[in-house]
Amino acid sequence: MTELNWAGNVAFGAARVATPATLAELRQLITSADPGSLRPLGTRHSFSRIADTTGTLVSSAGFADPAGVAIASDRASVSVPAGIRYGELARALEARGLALANLASLPHISVAGAIATGTHGSGVRNGSLATAVRAIEFVDGTGEPVTLRRGDTDFAGAVVALGALGFTTRLELDVEPSFEVAQTVYRGLPLAAVLDRFDEVAALGYSVSLFTTWTDPEVVDQLWLKRRGDRDAPAPESVLGALPSPVESHPIAGVDPVHCTPQLDAPGAWLDRLPHFKLEFTPSNGAELQSEYLVPRDTAVEAIRAVRVLADDIRPLLQVTEIREIAADELWLSGAFGTDAVGIHFTWLPEQDAVDALLPRLEERLLPLGARPHWGKRFHADAEALVPLYPRLDDFRALARRHDPRGVFVNDFLRAKLAL
Ligand SMILES: Cc1cc2nc3c(=O)[nH]c(=O)nc-3n(C[C@H](O)[C@H](O)[C@H](O)COP(=O)(O)OP(=O)(O)OC[C@H]3O[C@@H](n4cnc5c(N)ncnc54)[C@H](O)[C@@H]3O)c2cc1C
Repeated sequence: MTELNWAGNVAFGAARVATPATLAELRQLITSADPGSLRPLGTRHSFSRIADTTGTLVSSAGFADPAGVAIASDRASVSVPAGIRYGELARALEARGLALANLASLPHISVAGAIATGTHGSGVRNGSLATAVRAIEFVDGTGEPVTLRRGDTDFAGAVVALGALGFTTRLELDVEPSFEVAQTVYRGLPLAAVLDRFDEVAALGYSVSLFTTWTDPEVVDQLWLKRRGDRDAPAPESVLGALPSPVESHPIAGVDPVHCTPQLDAPGAWLDRLPHFKLEFTPSNGAELQSEYLVPRDTAVEAIRAVRVLADDIRPLLQVTEIREIAADELWLSGAFGTDAVGIHFTWLPEQDAVDALLPRLEERLLPLGARPHWGKRFHADAEALVPLYPRLDDFRALARRHDPRGVFVNDFLRAKLAL
């Protein structure tokens, strides 16, 4: 049976899926594999052939048992099986009065897969989910188990690693005491005012997302403000003239918000407010495609203006654009490496040929502004265009060759995008 990704736009070329459940099984699989014949697989939420292979997809499902979640005695970190989904991990932590600093929009993605691609939530002070990693354990392309801790040489290259070094089995993540978040949605903000006061708007609370459909290119449709009960000021009565919505909203105006996390400024646990969508709502597949570009904060306003110029071309293919903030980090392949960043995201209609035809035009405008494409979403740029954006790319390639000298985990995507 052909294996598909979550969006159904990628039919994996793999001959089989293996689900090793022990280190010994995993090591045996790797040491007996031919070059280019294995790829780690998470929950399949990426939109490209990043996880594809013509050989064997190595599922993370065998390393996903919630019983393997182990909280450190000082309650400052948690060790988790790498394939666990964020939603399950969040529940296990909340049951012990603990929290992760941030979550992505959807709780159904695996920790290993999210971290491997630099997945992020929002917040001017919140790094991507990978910045919570204290230690990573993986079996590399030689079959050797490797543990790297924050501060070790090579750690910063091994966290956002696109599955190019090996298969991640466990991760140790920072945690903190559980906290409450309240969500308020403001509707109809003037784009010009948002851009004039972008840094101020982005810092209104713990996590801020701007959603727009470019239906009226001069208006940002919605601002989602997520405030922490323990540190943020009360929700403003209005933002740039826009008032809080008196009813629950979906990021796409007019869509039933039944699957969205509660809003209306009602406080609730972090895990029930930081994602936009409820954990109980598990879409097994989705009629959408996604792209996202992380631009340095300094060029973000110019980048949003550049997108606005293409509004007439974007609109017919678009479900919604989301703009978020990601704090700088030191992870070599992270979109926020060395700079605070702003993610300009597009949820597209599932019209792949038309979307793929538009992406080079978007990138022509955004890449010169320093935009780095989200590794898990659709983009056009190849290795030649990406090299100048990642100052540590040569170091990453050297690291990958050291851990996977036979190229067991190399696929066409890694060849095209990283010249591995
Ligand atoms: C509806 C939806 C909402 C999303 N929301 C956000 C969002 O809010 N923010 C954001 O930044 N992104 C978001 N994404 C993108 C998503 O987070 C990334 O595509 C992420 O990589 C998906 O994780 P996964 O487990 O499905 O990985 P997969 O797609 O299965 O794999 C992705 C990569 O991770 C590698 N990998 C997987 N498991 C392992 C492992 N055990 N060891 C080593 N490498 C591994 C794979 O080889 C591959 O290179 C969203 C995607 C969808 C479909």
